[in-house]
Amino acid sequence: MLCDLHLHTSKSDGTFAPARLYDEIRGRGLRYFSITDHDCLDAYPVPDDLRDRVIPGIEVDSQHEGQTVHILAYGISDPESPLVQALAVQRLDRHRRMQSMIDRLCAFGINIQMRDVAAQASGATSLGRPHLARALVAQSSATTIQDAFDRFISDDGPGYAPLNRLASAEILALIHSSGGVAIVAHPMRLRAFKHLDELIALGLDGIEVVHPTATPQDEIGLRATARKHALLVTGGTDFHEPVLGHPIGVAMQSTEIDALREAVALG
Ligand code: AMP
Ligand code: ZN
Ligand code: FE
Ligand code: FE
Repeated sequence: MLCDLHLHTSKSDGTFAPARLYDEIRGRGLRYFSITDHDCLDAYPVPDDLRDRVIPGIEVDSQHEGQTVHILAYGISDPESPLVQALAVQRLDRHRRMQSMIDRLCAFGINIQMRDVAAQASGATSLGRPHLARALVAQSSATTIQDAFDRFISDDGPGYAPLNRLASAEILALIHSSGGVAIVAHPMRLRAFKHLDELIALGLDGIEVVHPTATPQDEIGLRATARKHALLVTGGTDFHEPVLGHPIGVAMQSTEIDALREAVALG
């Protein structure tokens, strides 16, 4: 069944406005989808004709053993929920952190200012590195988004500054007290694989098994881990902007989607 449970819009660091992404979802005929913008629910609620296909979602970054770990929270749509309230604080930190990345780039000899980044982030509630990457490309300091990351703003790049994030245990507790389920996003990006076991011990509910960073072989291993611990399995493209030959939608097993929908009380 064609689904996509990991999609971004221009409300965070994607390039499609919500209305354009809804059209893409209709055009691709996705059976189920979730828009998982970073730290915000601003692409919700979805239009009426998509109501029976949506699983509400949000992507949250957390701090785990000194590393950033992305957690997908599904089943939370209330802006007043403890999670979304806490994220308002995390969102503000994105401005402080962007200024500090800009300062680092300037010290490194790249002349860029907040207004250049703001020009790439109009309508966004949540500022992210992709906005900075697009600004660097717009002024020809980088040739492509990937080039901007590779030379300047990847996690170990000269222009990188970290976000202040809540600890993974706190994020999991906030997701649960808000009535949602917590899924580790793109687990192949974890700095150490033991972090997966630690997150499971902390009460993780599921694993994003299908993601562009996971090979078919990785998927087999991740599904086995999920089965062993009776965890949910999810998947998506992590769509940020159109790339030729990479449409939205991934093939998911209907039993896996049913289990997720049941867990968030939609089933
Ligand atoms: P932020 O939350 O501001 O740290 O930005 C994280 C986003 O930047 C991720 O969701 C990815 O879309 C993108 N990103 C992070 N690292 C890389 C990288 N090395 N290459 C390309 N994109 C990246
Ligand atoms: Zn993103
Ligand atoms: Fe992510
Ligand atoms: Fe994402």
